[in-house]
Amino acid sequence: MKVLVLNCGSSSVKFALIETGDGRDATLARGLIEPIGATEGTASCEIPGGRRRVRPASIPDHNRAIRLALEMLAEPEIGAIRGWEEIEAVGHRMVHGGDRFQEPAVVTEAVVRAIQDCVALAPLHNPHNLSGYFASRGLLPHAAHVAVFDTAFHQTLPPKAYTYALPHGLCARYRVRRYGFHGTSHRWMAERYAELQGRPVEEFKLITCHLGNGCSMCAIERGRSVDTSMGMTPLEGLVMGTRSGDVDAAAVLHLMQWEQLSVERMDALLNKGSGLYGISGISNDMRTLLEHAARGDERAALAIEVFCYRIRKYIGAYYAVLNGADAVIFTGGIGENAPEIRRRVCESLDALGIRLDEQRNRAAVGREADLSAEDARTRVWAIPTNEELLIARETVRALESAGRQTR
Ligand code: ADP
Repeated sequence: MKVLVLNCGSSSVKFALIETGDGRDATLARGLIEPIGATEGTASCEIPGGRRRVRPASIPDHNRAIRLALEMLAEPEIGAIRGWEEIEAVGHRMVHGGDRFQEPAVVTEAVVRAIQDCVALAPLHNPHNLSGYFASRGLLPHAAHVAVFDTAFHQTLPPKAYTYALPHGLCARYRVRRYGFHGTSHRWMAERYAELQGRPVEEFKLITCHLGNGCSMCAIERGRSVDTSMGMTPLEGLVMGTRSGDVDAAAVLHLMQWEQLSVERMDALLNKGSGLYGISGISNDMRTLLEHAARGDERAALAIEVFCYRIRKYIGAYYAVLNGADAVIFTGGIGENAPEIRRRVCESLDALGIRLDEQRNRAAVGREADLSAEDARTRVWAIPTNEELLIARETVRALESAGRQTR
C-alpha cells in the first residue's frame, strides 16, 4: 500500500511516500515545501539515494503546498506515482491528542472535533496539522486518512507521573497535566529492541532517549510508557536545541517581572532562545557546539555539559522508576550520530550496570548497534528512528484495526 505521510507545520509541509506491506517498508520519495505564506518559496522532492528536484513556487497555504507535493511525486523526474489515486492512505502527524487518543485514529467528523478540542493545548501545532488534513482530504478524497498522535503512546502514564502539584480543580478545568511527546519514536525503540532480542516487548524494562532538536526520554515497562520527560507541552524535561527543558517556574516569573516580558515573549524565550543555543550563545546545533568546544569555547563546553548531565539525571530517575533497566536506547540526530555525547552520558554509571565499549560506541554512527561492553548488565543500544516510516506503519495498523472492528 502506498501511504503519504504529512507533517504540516506553521511554515512548512514535510512529506514522504512510503510503500508498506509484507513486512517490507520502503521510502519511495520525500520532500519539503516551504515557507508557507511566501510568494517565492521552494518545493523539493527526492528519491532516497537517487534523483532530486527543486523548484521555486508560490505557496500561499497548506492546500497549495500539498498540491505541489502531489505534483512532484507524479513528475517523470521523480515518478513515485503515476496518478494521485495510487495513494491509498494518508498518515497525518498530529502533535496533541490530549487525553482523548490512546491510539492512531481513522479521521471522522467526531475525530476532527476531538482534535479541535485539543487546540488550546497545542495552539502552535494542532491548527496547522488540521489545516493539512482538510487540504489533503479535498485533494485525495478517495484515500483513508489517519491521525497519528505524538502523545498517544504516553496515555498509559499513571496519575502519579502525569499530575502536576498545582491546584487540582484548576488543572482539571484547563486540562493541565503531563502528556508527553515523541511517542511514535519511543514506542519504535522499545519494539525494535525486543525484536532484535527475539523476545516479546513485555519482558523488558527500557529507558529510551530521543535526542534530536527536540529531546525527550521515556521509561517503558512491559511495552508501556510509565513516565516521560516532556510534559503538558514539549518544553519540559531535557535540555534541547532551543528549549530550556526543566526550569524553576519562579525563575520564569522573575525574568518576566524584571525584564517586563509579555507572555508571548517569555514563551519565545523558553522555546526558541534557550537550551543549547541559550547557554552557548552560538548555536542550537550539536555538531557546531562540539567543534567550538574542541577549540576551547567555554560556553559551548558548558552547554554540552549541562545537556549530558540532565540526561544522566533522568537515566538515574527512570532506573528508580522501573526498579532496574534491561537497556538504555539512543535515537535522533544526536543519539544516533554523536558517540562523544553517548560516552559522556554513560560514563561512570557502572553502579547501574551501564558500561560502554569504547570502540563499539565510536564505530556506531547512524546505524543500529549494541554499544555496551560484553559483561555490562544494562545494555546500551543505538536504534535509528525514521518517524515517517513509523507514521506510515501506524496508519496501516489503524486501518487494519478499524477494518477488524467493522467486520
Ligand atoms: P529534529 O528533531 O529536527 O528531527 P534531528 O533528529 O535531525 O532533529 O537532530 C538534529 C541534531 O542532531 C542537531 O543538533 C545536530 O547537530 C545533531 N547531529 C546530527 N548529526 C550529528 C553528528 N554527526 N554529530 C553530532 N551531532 C549531530
